[in-house]
Amino acid sequence: MTVRTRFAPSPTGYLHIGGVRTALFCWLFARQHGGQFILRIDDTDQQRNVAEALEPILRGLRWLGIDWDEGPEVGGPYAPYYQSQRTARYRAAVERLLACGAAYRDYATAAEIQAEREAAERDKRLFVYSRRFMAETPEQQARFEAEGRQPTIRLKMPRQGKLVLDDIVRGQVEFDWVNEQDHVIQRADGSFLYALANVVDDEDFGITHVIRAEEHLSNTPRQVFIIQALGYRQPQYAHLPFVAEPGSKNKLSKRKLKTYLKNRDFAELVAHGEKILRALGCPQPGESFNPVMVEFYERIGFLPEAIINYLALLGWSLDDRTEHFTRHELVEKFSLQRVNKAPASFDPKKLMAFQQRHMQLLPPERKVELVLPFLQGAGLISHASAAVREQVAQVVRAAGDRITIAGDILEFADFFLPDDELPYDQAAFDKNLRADHAAELLRQFRDRLAAVQQFEPPALEALLRDFVQERGIKTGQIIHPLRVAVTGKAIGMGLFDTLAILGRQRCLSRIDRALALL
Ligand code: GLU
Repeated sequence: MTVRTRFAPSPTGYLHIGGVRTALFCWLFARQHGGQFILRIDDTDQQRNVAEALEPILRGLRWLGIDWDEGPEVGGPYAPYYQSQRTARYRAAVERLLACGAAYRDYATAAEIQAEREAAERDKRLFVYSRRFMAETPEQQARFEAEGRQPTIRLKMPRQGKLVLDDIVRGQVEFDWVNEQDHVIQRADGSFLYALANVVDDEDFGITHVIRAEEHLSNTPRQVFIIQALGYRQPQYAHLPFVAEPGSKNKLSKRKLKTYLKNRDFAELVAHGEKILRALGCPQPGESFNPVMVEFYERIGFLPEAIINYLALLGWSLDDRTEHFTRHELVEKFSLQRVNKAPASFDPKKLMAFQQRHMQLLPPERKVELVLPFLQGAGLISHASAAVREQVAQVVRAAGDRITIAGDILEFADFFLPDDELPYDQAAFDKNLRADHAAELLRQFRDRLAAVQQFEPPALEALLRDFVQERGIKTGQIIHPLRVAVTGKAIGMGLFDTLAILGRQRCLSRIDRALALL
């Protein structure tokens, strides 16, 4: 048996971080068993433009390297992979369910069903539909239709006994059939419901393992009922715990940004992103764009491998100890048996720690490739010539761990700005350049910089040390004015690295400009 799993998103216009965790587990499982991972689009209830609403989902999966063997764009032997294009299949399944008595036409109005439900509530008994408007013969149908009624199609669910389900994650789960309603599978307008469409597709696509979010566990009995009625093969189920809010057990939601901002780590992540996005001239985080969505991480320069590593541990662990995995190791070691039942809470701080770690493992050339688009996006460089690359490489090297996310390169924008456009932090300028003797010391040191032979960190450090000694001043008296003059700011990476990266000409021209302003 070839393992076949599927991820079945609705085109919502964004890829939820919890959703992509489900996709990842489906993908890991398929890859581990040399099987196939299928992407199916659940667009039956779609009002808006499907292509547009799907694009961020495909893009997010592609970015994370979660590739699909069949589905949109790649096609496959069971195409189409869009539910909206598969209605003929659903219609045929409904016909068969009607024919074998597992479903019936129901002519009740919504109000009539509601009245029965309320009566049951009043009497404090379980609501079980009376089937008063069930039509199983042409005569019954004709009678109801003569009254101007329109049918929905309902499952004729068992009313006694139990369903015992073996779920790979949750173990044995029991459902009393009496608690199940006669679920609607086709509406009066002819459209089909998810429970039916899903089962038909899984059968048609040969899905062997249904790995999905826990909220679908309650849909499973009606699906198993359809599977049994139609003689389909029952897939194995694995219902994953959902990804919870930071510090709580509630499901992570994209609409609760305000609440999540009260969590310090979450707020820090948003603020970090905000800074980068502002420098890029991008929209700021908000209701429709925030860390609940995968796109947030892509836009600010996270590494896909860090996200993958972190998401794998949201609900799964190898041995409660090992934390760092490459994609390859995950494919090798992942198992559904070691998925937790309890919700896993999204922890922005931990995600950041994974990002930092994966960034540290990255070869310097790849770091340079990663940051280049950000410099371009912020308009700081226009092309990546060998000389520009070399300069970027120097900045990246000197910045070290200060670049945790690729977008952090924009903290070092001052290296890439034209000398006459360097902005000054006004307070830093006044405090350090207008200090006693600052201008005079800076002017003298400028001439030494102009004359020094080697414009390299060790030589520059020696130059400054000698200057301080000769003048009998404190180091700070020259270091601070010099830093503000060449970077515009009072803080930053090592001063000698900074000078060397800028090079002699640019240092001199920046110092001259600062002196002129004084
Ligand atoms: N479209 C459903 C969802 O997004 C898929 C459910 C399933 O995997 O069966 O939750």
